[in-house]
Amino acid sequence: MKPFIIIAEDEPAVSELLRYNLEAQGYETAIARDGDEALLLIEERTPDLILLDWMLPRVSGIEICRRVRSRTDLANLPIIMLTAKTEEADRVRGLEMGADDYVTKPFSTNELIARVKAVLRRIRPALVHDMIHVGDISIDRTTHSVTRNGQHIHLGPTEFRLLEYFAQHPKRVFSREQLLDGVWGSDVYVEARTVDVHVGRLRKALMSEGGDNPIRTVRSAGYSLRGS
Ligand code: CA
Repeated sequence: MKPFIIIAEDEPAVSELLRYNLEAQGYETAIARDGDEALLLIEERTPDLILLDWMLPRVSGIEICRRVRSRTDLANLPIIMLTAKTEEADRVRGLEMGADDYVTKPFSTNELIARVKAVLRRIRPALVHDMIHVGDISIDRTTHSVTRNGQHIHLGPTEFRLLEYFAQHPKRVFSREQLLDGVWGSDVYVEARTVDVHVGRLRKALMSEGGDNPIRTVRSAGYSLRGS
């Protein structure tokens, strides 16, 4: 499951930029344009983290922070406050209200994503996974688990490394020799035919829960993972 982040921010330019960048990093997002909507979204589905604008219409960010922290079921919900305010007093107040971190606008997206990862790593270490997504295939490089269309796919260690290798360059065609070098290592003697055997096993495993053949065989050239 992708970590779910609520972006509570009334400036569309900021919220869309955050949504775009977070989704590119493998997070699922929902945008709330005011405080009421943020509270509603939190009720609907508890997020893994909230990016909370201080100056929100209807219910302010600081009030949402206070309400979230007063509830035992949400007490550990990570909150990063976003604000244009730069005064030290406000910063202290935000942290006193229970925000886990604080980012002042204008911020760089890279910095904000680094803060999101840092907060999640500290508070929800299980969520910070190194993921690769190719089409309907998701590869978790932390736990070495693979899903396709949400279904768990069982792979042996060689098939896992093979898939991981393909997934780093979707659509690129690899020859058997390139796969041998990249997956088995150039100092190991393995016959080229071994590659065919493992590609065959990988393909079968990826199709075990249904779905099209995700690995293309390119005659006399090699194999590639379809991009989507
Ligand atoms: Ca605002």
